[in-house]
Amino acid sequence: MLIAGAGMAGLVCAARARELGLRPRLIEKGTRPGGSMLLSSCVVWRHLEWEDFRAECPAGDEELQRLIWERLDDALAWLVSLGAQPVWEDTENPRTTGKRFDPHALTQVLARDVELETPLPEDAEAPLVLATGGFPRRLAEERGLLLRANPWSDGAGLDYAAARGAGLTDGMAEFYGRVMPAPPAHIREEDFVPLSQLYGRWARIFTDDGREITPAGVAWHESDLAQRIGPTAWFVLDDAGLAHAQERVDAARAVGGTVVDAAALPFETPPGARTAVHVAAAVTHTMGGLRVDTCARVLAEDDRPIPGLYAAGVDAGGVATGGYASGLAQALVLGLAAAEELAG
Ligand SMILES: Cc1cc2nc3c(=O)[nH]c(=O)nc-3n(C[C@H](O)[C@H](O)[C@H](O)COP(=O)(O)OP(=O)(O)OC[C@H]3O[C@@H](n4cnc5c(N)ncnc54)[C@H](O)[C@@H]3O)c2cc1C
Repeated sequence: MLIAGAGMAGLVCAARARELGLRPRLIEKGTRPGGSMLLSSCVVWRHLEWEDFRAECPAGDEELQRLIWERLDDALAWLVSLGAQPVWEDTENPRTTGKRFDPHALTQVLARDVELETPLPEDAEAPLVLATGGFPRRLAEERGLLLRANPWSDGAGLDYAAARGAGLTDGMAEFYGRVMPAPPAHIREEDFVPLSQLYGRWARIFTDDGREITPAGVAWHESDLAQRIGPTAWFVLDDAGLAHAQERVDAARAVGGTVVDAAALPFETPPGARTAVHVAAAVTHTMGGLRVDTCARVLAEDDRPIPGLYAAGVDAGGVATGGYASGLAQALVLGLAAAEELAG
């Protein structure tokens, strides 16, 4: 059994497979295990209410959503049983429930015998579990957006399975994104979380040439905004907005981001506008991907499982189409499902 990708899904799949008596081989293209999980806030969560999950991600695959929603609490208990210590016992978000871990400690608990700098070969042995983290890098490059993910996930799993007849989900252009300070801001991986400009709901938003694009409403996670603004835009804040945003605005300025007096902008701004921040959309993970069933088997275009081929984590698409849900929960539950299916 070969697992490609040692992020959340691959690490979980390998750990569960070993527990069930299998001897998985875990290969990783990058120089470290952990994938984007290592860079994340590491809140592994689900919507508190099933109806809210459906309402927020209405175009997602209902069976996969149900699997994740129903299995997550037990899956979290399993992680804890391995020695992963939660740093928060809940998410501090009234809409959701889950646990937060320290991503480095969690990686250390899970990572064993990872073969680093070993990319998925063109013709791999079966059974194969694809856990390569989707194609955020490719999407960011194609669309001229920033990448807010590990640097290695560029669609290798997707291409491998597509070449063998895999079906793709809807939403291939969708991403879970964040708005970040635009270049020349210098953003290190370890600053992906604190530099998120997560106050768009209190800003008026303008394109670079001064056209207002403030939406009528912004979702609590603001991933919708990241998908909407295009490569770069201006967040314009009045005093009330700044009261919510000051810390993140200061963080943008501290890394060389462009933060100016609103009056200095070359277009008219609303009355009371005080400060403008030049921002850019960044791709964290892709939402579309391979079609899988609830056993993590990759499905061909005719809905039949492709023998010996599995996908977990965000290589599997269609879970949160149209909205936003926890990528780590998807990786945890589908990683377990793949291992359990293979163990029979
Ligand atoms: C800053 C940040 C904050 C986040 N916060 C949260 C959060 O709080 N909660 C949440 O649920 N989600 C969060 N996420 C998203 C979450 O990290 C991802 O959804 C999750 O890591 C996906 O797991 P995965 O195993 O599918 O992919 P990853 O964890 O990215 O792992 C994929 C692995 O595959 C490897 N790989 C790529 N190509 C190949 C190849 N060809 N061969 C072999 N290996 C390959 C990669 O190097 C990587 O190690 C955050 C992400 C970021 C970047």
